[in-house]
Amino acid sequence: MTVQTDEHDRSMAFAEIALGQIKALHQPAYPRNYEVWYNYATGYIPSLNQTINEALARNGTLTGAEIEQIYDTYLSPARLTDRMDTVGGQIVDEIEQVMAMIDAAVGSATNYTESLASATQSLGSAKDRDGLRTIVESLVLATKDMEQHNHRLEDSLKASKQEINQLQVNLEAVRNESLTDPLTSLANRKYFDMTLDKAIAHSTATGEPMSLMLTDIDHFKKFNDTYGHLTGDQVLRLVALAVKQNVKGQDTAARYGGEEFAVILPATALQPALTVAEHVRNAVMTKELMKRSTGEHLGRVTVSIGVASLHRGDSAQSLIERADASLYAAKRCGRNRVMCETDTEVAPVPAQQVA
Ligand code: GH3
Ligand code: MG
Ligand code: MG
Repeated sequence: MTVQTDEHDRSMAFAEIALGQIKALHQPAYPRNYEVWYNYATGYIPSLNQTINEALARNGTLTGAEIEQIYDTYLSPARLTDRMDTVGGQIVDEIEQVMAMIDAAVGSATNYTESLASATQSLGSAKDRDGLRTIVESLVLATKDMEQHNHRLEDSLKASKQEINQLQVNLEAVRNESLTDPLTSLANRKYFDMTLDKAIAHSTATGEPMSLMLTDIDHFKKFNDTYGHLTGDQVLRLVALAVKQNVKGQDTAARYGGEEFAVILPATALQPALTVAEHVRNAVMTKELMKRSTGEHLGRVTVSIGVASLHRGDSAQSLIERADASLYAAKRCGRNRVMCETDTEVAPVPAQQVA
């Protein structure tokens, strides 16, 4: 009871703050606005609060479009687990229905067997034609009944099969979403880690080359401080697009961290990987940035890229460390450049870290 009262008081306090913000900023009290402000009041998602605080400090308010974007970025993915639970629940329901159908089928088959057994017994004691006819008629009836039962079962099983196929499609969509970064639509870190392990295992087994590219936006903190997090997020989307557009289907482009992107390049040696990296660097630096809401020109951003190729005995960690060392050398050497593990400026990763 006390727990419930505490929960009631706490949630009412959050609700009051949320409604207070909506009133103060003269926003419509739509559920989506309320949800954003309620979450803000709880402080459970620090990056949501930071984004809102920065927008408030800058403009004194949040536009409908900004709320929409904050919702899409920070809140809608939180529904993923709910949706997984729903699909999971539906699958369990469907399986229960199929089990009930099988039980019913077993029941009707047992009844049929009993009818057959009793007919066999009656046949032995049948005295005349009429007695035989009655037995045969009851057998025909039981068989028809069984036939109808089978038809109904077949229809229900077909419907269940369709339903289960649809649920499988839904489950696949939820799974894909759980491996995708919501802001950029690139693969997320979890998918990157899984794919890198697989790519290394494949290269190790086949002897095919493979490379890894780590990209980091230059002076992005300054960009955010100047134009705000929401504009920064738009730039992240743009850089993600440039990365995606310059890699091939077999490559995996992922958001590795806040403003860092990684690309796994299977069947690619160091030199061709450097060419891909140059394409990405060029694509980013030639994009003229413009603030969508105001048309304001924001100049350009550049990226630094580190590239490393798989060596014999490499683990995911040792490969990442060499790509990272190359990236940091690119930063040290002035940014907006691509560097790789064979460049003399790159500090060698200590040998014991390379398994
Ligand atoms: P450097 O050239 O050395 O990489 O400078 P930098 O400012 O980019 O470096 P640093 O890694 O220190 O800063 C990363 C900044 O990226 C911090 C933060 O302002 C910004 N950032 C990280 N994640 C996000 C994000 O999801 N959205 C936005 N808008 N900015 C982010
Ligand atoms: Mg960084
Ligand atoms: Mg950076």
